Amino acid sequence: MSSSNPILAGKVALVTGASSGIGEATAAALAAAGAKVAIAARRADRLVALAGRIEQAGGKALAIEADIARGSDIAGMVDKVVSEWGRLDILVNNAGVMLLAPTAEADLDDWRRMIELNLIGLIGTTKAALPHLKASRGHIVNVSSVAGRVANPGASGYAATKFGVVAFSESLRREVYADKVRVTVIEPGLVRTELGDHITNAEYKAGLDHRLATMEALTAEDIANAILYAVSQPPRVNVNEILIRPTDQER
Ligand code: NDP
Repeated sequence: MSSSNPILAGKVALVTGASSGIGEATAAALAAAGAKVAIAARRADRLVALAGRIEQAGGKALAIEADIARGSDIAGMVDKVVSEWGRLDILVNNAGVMLLAPTAEADLDDWRRMIELNLIGLIGTTKAALPHLKASRGHIVNVSSVAGRVANPGASGYAATKFGVVAFSESLRREVYADKVRVTVIEPGLVRTELGDHITNAEYKAGLDHRLATMEALTAEDIANAILYAVSQPPRVNVNEILIRPTDQER
């Protein structure tokens, strides 16, 4: 831990999609700020390695193998955090996929995968965690995207899920504000991570690779810093939305 009186001391966080990219960086940042961090994703080996690094730095981590597109895994994941550490203060709904393609060429299995993970998985995780977050006056951070504010061609399915996350978050905020539960939406522009590796449409995969090669994209740590900022504010401050583009990104 980086400080003798860390700002998130005593807090318990759960970060989904923590085996790479933004989730991995966020878990490390929250742990460095003193939170106990549960890290969830499907690649257990990556989680175990990250947990080892967090513990070596003096933090506390709990690796949980979970497929957020499966309801039974979601319930088990939340139960595991609470049975291990007795509470949940911060939920970072970060797990997501971006399978770009124009609608005319859409592979509906790709679209289904995005909706089931990015939207239904996020809603299901929130629902499972909500009783614990109400008890702790906790904080929900939903990772949407610039694609949740600007709908570009070739991103119709992905943008539909991310606009959905923004709408869900605003509705949720109004449902839970009286319980002192805070809700933050994070909307990153282009971040250099593994996200593009799963695109099955060759043209759109090449297009993304070209954009990444010709601009200075954000780093996962840039987004982790924004999440840390949101969850480190005093209880009266509800940071509802942070949209962060690379300086080089126009739309
Ligand atoms: P990564 O591909 O590096 O990370 C995605 C994470 O989601 C991985 O940990 C992956 O783990 C996890 N994940 C994927 N499918 C599942 C599943 N079924 N169940 C559980 N976990 C799953 O990409 P990013 O870090 O970039 O993405 C994180 C979030 O940020 C996503 O929601 C993405 O939409 C959003 N975002 C990213 C941007 C970017 O430019 N990179 C821009 C805007 C938003 P595993 O495969 O081990 O399960």
